[in-house]
Amino acid sequence: MFEYAPAPESRSVVDIAPSYGLFIDGEFVPPASSGGAFKTVNPATEEVLAEVSTAGPEDIDRAVAAARRASGPWSALPGAERAKYLFRIARIIQERSRELAVLESLDNGKPIRESRDVDLPLVAAHFFYYAGWADKLRYAGFGDNPRPLGVAAQVIPWNFPLLMLAWKIAPALATGNTVVLKPAETTPLSALFFADVCRQADLPPGVVNIVTGAGDAGRTLVEHPGVDKVAFTGSTEVGRQIARSVAGTRKRLTLELGGKAANIVFDDAPIDQAVEGIVNGIFFNQGHVCCAGSRLLVQESIAEELLESLKRRMATLRVGDPLDKNTDVGAINSAEQLERIRTLSDIGAEEGAERWSPPCTLPSQGFWFAPTIFTGVTQAHRIAREEIFGPVLSVLTFRTPDEAIEKANNTPYGLSAGIWSDKGSQILAVADKLRAGVVWANTFNKFDPTSPFGGYKESGYGREGGRHGLEAYLA
Ligand code: NAP
Ligand code: MG
Repeated sequence: MFEYAPAPESRSVVDIAPSYGLFIDGEFVPPASSGGAFKTVNPATEEVLAEVSTAGPEDIDRAVAAARRASGPWSALPGAERAKYLFRIARIIQERSRELAVLESLDNGKPIRESRDVDLPLVAAHFFYYAGWADKLRYAGFGDNPRPLGVAAQVIPWNFPLLMLAWKIAPALATGNTVVLKPAETTPLSALFFADVCRQADLPPGVVNIVTGAGDAGRTLVEHPGVDKVAFTGSTEVGRQIARSVAGTRKRLTLELGGKAANIVFDDAPIDQAVEGIVNGIFFNQGHVCCAGSRLLVQESIAEELLESLKRRMATLRVGDPLDKNTDVGAINSAEQLERIRTLSDIGAEEGAERWSPPCTLPSQGFWFAPTIFTGVTQAHRIAREEIFGPVLSVLTFRTPDEAIEKANNTPYGLSAGIWSDKGSQILAVADKLRAGVVWANTFNKFDPTSPFGGYKESGYGREGGRHGLEAYLA
C-alpha cells in the first residue's frame, strides 16, 4: 500500500484581518460597547483566526433601523433590478469561491473537498436561482401582487455557515425584504466576507446587515420589535425558545431544526452503492448535518454482509487536515460539540450497544472524533433517539417494510430519510409513509436550490429552497 502524499490547498488565497467590526448600513463599524469581542479559532489546530465583535442591544437596534430604512427603496425596485444585484453577488461568489472555500474550511474544520465542491457551488447556485425569481414573483402562485414582509431577522448555525446564509439571504432579497443576519459564534468569518461581497456588488447600504455574537445576540435580534420575520436554523431547543418569544407578535416565523434521519436499506439494494450512501449520509461534514442519515435501518437478512462492507469502506476514510485535498473527514467544529459527541457515544456503550471505529490516528492538536458505528442498537437507546450531530452511526435492523417504516417514523424529528432498494414500487410505497420533509431514494444528502427543504414535527416548520421558499418572505 502506498501512502498518500500531502496535497494541501494554499492558505495564502485568503487574507483574514486580525479583527472585525459589525456590518451595519453598508459599513464595518465597531460595536457600541467596547467590551464586546470574542475569538474564532480553527478547530483543526486551535489557532486563533481573528477577533470578532459581540453585538449588543444598541448594535442590534442600529442594524434593524438600517434594514428598515433600506426596506422601502429596496422593495420599490423593479424585480429585474433586484435580480441584477443577486446575479452580481452570485458571480462574485463564483469568482472568489476558492478564497471562500479555504476560509470556510479554516473556520469550520470541514474538508476543503467539501467546501470547494459542495458548499461553494451550492451557495452560488442559490443566489443564481433566486435571482431568477425576483422579476417573476407574480407568477409564483402567491397572488397577483405579492409583497415583501419588511425586515427579516435571520439566525444560522455553524455546520454550513455560508450555505445557510445563502438559504436565508437569497430568497429574502429576491422578494424585496432586507435582512439582519447573525452567524454562529464559532463560524462568523464567511458571513463577514459575504458582507464584503455585498459591498463589491454595490448592494445598497442596509439591505444586508451582519451582526456577530453568541446566543444572546441572536435572542436580542429575534425578540427585536422592529423585525417582521424571523428565520432560524439551529437546534430544536433554541427553536422552541424562539417560537415562544415570537408567539403573540405579528412576526412571521420559519424554523429549520434538528433531525435523526433513518437511512433504510432493503435486501434487494445494490450493496456497494448503499455503503457509499451510508458513508456520505453520516460522515459527510463530520456528521454535522441536520439531515444526516444517523440511523441506519438495515434488513436483517443482509445486515452482516452490509456491515462488513461498511467497515471495510470506513477503514479507508482519511481523517485529518481539512485543507488537505485527500481528507474525507475533517475536524469537529468546537470543543463543546466534541464533548457532546463523546458524552452521547459513551452513553451508547454504557447502554449496551457495540461500538466500532476503524484504526485511525487523530491529530494531537484540535478537535477530532474517529468515524464510529454502533451495532446492536435498540429504539430505546439514547443514541437511537437523540441527535448526536457528529460522525456516529447507530445501526438497527428490521425484517419487513412495515417494521422499517414504523422504526423510521419512531422519532420526534422528521427532516429527512433515505431508501435503498432495487424496486421502484417499494421505494414509492415506503416514501409515501415516511414522515420526513425530504426522502432520498438510492442516494443521500443531495441538495438543489430548486428543491424545497424542511421538516415535520420537531424538525421545524416552513420550507426553504425552491418556489416554496419564496412563500416564507411574502405577504
Ligand atoms: P443552536 O445552538 O441552536 O444555534 C443556532 C444559532 O442560534 C447560533 O447562531 C446560536 O448562537 C444562536 N442562538 C443560540 N441561542 C439563541 C437564542 N436563545 N435565541 C436566538 N438565537 C440563539 O444550534 P447549533 O448547535 O449551532 O447548530 C446545530 C443544530 O442546528 C442541530 O440541531 C442541527 O440539526 C440544526 N440544523 C438544522 C438545519 C435545518 O435546515 N433543519 C440545518 C443545519 C443545522 P451561538 O453560535 O452563539 O450558539
Ligand atoms: Mg471557528
